[in-house]
Amino acid sequence: MKIRTDIAYQQCINADCGATFDVAEPLFECPKCGDLLDTCYDWSKAAMPRRLSAFEAKWADQADPLAFSGVWRFHELLPFARREHIITLGEGRTILQRADRVAEYAGLAPGRLFLQYEGLNPSASFKDNGMTAAYTHARLVGAKRAICASTGNTSASVALFSAVDGRIPAAVLVGSGKIAYGKLAQALDFGVRVIQVEGDFDTCMKRVKEVARELGFYLMNSLNPFRLEGQKTIMYRILEGLRWEVPDWIVVPGGNLGNSSAFGKAFKELHEAGLIKRLPRLAVIVAEGADTLYRIVNEEKIAWNGGRVDEAGIAAFYEQMDAENRRAKTLASAIEINRPVNLKKCLRALEWTGGVVEKVSDQEILDAKAQVGAGGFGCEPASAAGVAGARKLVAAGTIGRDEHIACVLTGHALKDPNITVAYHTLGDDELREAYGDYGVRGANSANKPIVVEDNLEKIIAAIQA
Ligand SMILES: *Cc1c(COP(=O)(O)O)cnc(C)c1O
Ligand SMILES: [Zn+2]
Repeated sequence: MKIRTDIAYQQCINADCGATFDVAEPLFECPKCGDLLDTCYDWSKAAMPRRLSAFEAKWADQADPLAFSGVWRFHELLPFARREHIITLGEGRTILQRADRVAEYAGLAPGRLFLQYEGLNPSASFKDNGMTAAYTHARLVGAKRAICASTGNTSASVALFSAVDGRIPAAVLVGSGKIAYGKLAQALDFGVRVIQVEGDFDTCMKRVKEVARELGFYLMNSLNPFRLEGQKTIMYRILEGLRWEVPDWIVVPGGNLGNSSAFGKAFKELHEAGLIKRLPRLAVIVAEGADTLYRIVNEEKIAWNGGRVDEAGIAAFYEQMDAENRRAKTLASAIEINRPVNLKKCLRALEWTGGVVEKVSDQEILDAKAQVGAGGFGCEPASAAGVAGARKLVAAGTIGRDEHIACVLTGHALKDPNITVAYHTLGDDELREAYGDYGVRGANSANKPIVVEDNLEKIIAAIQA
């Protein structure tokens, strides 16, 4: 197949390597040094619009599937595939909502907090933004089979794309026990092959890389640089929702750190093209029980350092982690990851944007989740980590009360209904009993159902109480 090798190529992020590869090579790591790869473009050959508002005009052409897609509407900013090769399900038609109630909770002035609802994607998480791009690339390179490791949402998205496209069957590896039912239900329902491995996400990730190397399966995890190209568009849509005004902060939960990496790249590219005047600052929020990034950045003080990251420092950190047998543990299962594959790209994004890393407890996550739900469409626990983190950063004075913030709500509320129902229905004692080992002590924003006997007076009294 003829590919636009004239515009796009792949490049190793390691400054001491920097090897480049054809866009048509199915790679998920640098064959020379094993480091991460970027999808890069020769922008002098790409038809970049002069003004961002040009993308808005495409709303008028919704009969065109690429204009309908909230990812491919921005095709000019990820021009690695020709129009005719693109696989789209109409992903990325998500909204940015001004959220004054949640702003108040976070300590922000009215009109300052915006929530980007990525749960409104076809498989109900942001992953579809990336998967449409990865599937498109998989088709370009003639992949026969795909594989991913997943805490749940990647498997749901891979399952959906492979079911609808029908040409690239996929296998998904999930850890035993932890996967939220909404996500598992999707993978099963869409008919993908689900392998439940006795181990956690980090184990599954290690294994899928081995399978990909051994059998040549196409890897759908965010190690895949093409997936991250699709995820850049979340930022374009936030800018669009803000009338192309750059916010002061983008707040995002961090798991494998694909989003934070993609967001940094999105803004860096727009800035270099002169399409925005400044970059927003990134705040990446991790769970206390899966805080590798927090420790690496805030305690080990390891930074991007111009592409010469302190590898020995990271290796020593992981060695210590293994020696202490520290396993990721959080109710926010989507970010329950101790070895984030995009760690280095995230360090780069933090440097580019003057970003910060904060961590939040599961208690803070669940309380914030209830606030998000009470203020709008709701989200799953991992997504609420962003809001909880924003609140903490406002309280610490890192984020100013009058700054403009966009929090990315990564997944839909219905992905993980069990924890939501438990939070609202169980009393503090029972909740503590069920989730005490996650540090949960009670529900500070519970909306507890009122139980009444079948008696009209009592029902009316309960309604009016
Ligand atoms: C995958 C996922 C995350 C983590 O995103 P990364 O890009 O891996 O950091 C966060 N929230 C939800 C709901 C997810 O599905
Ligand atoms: Zn390399």
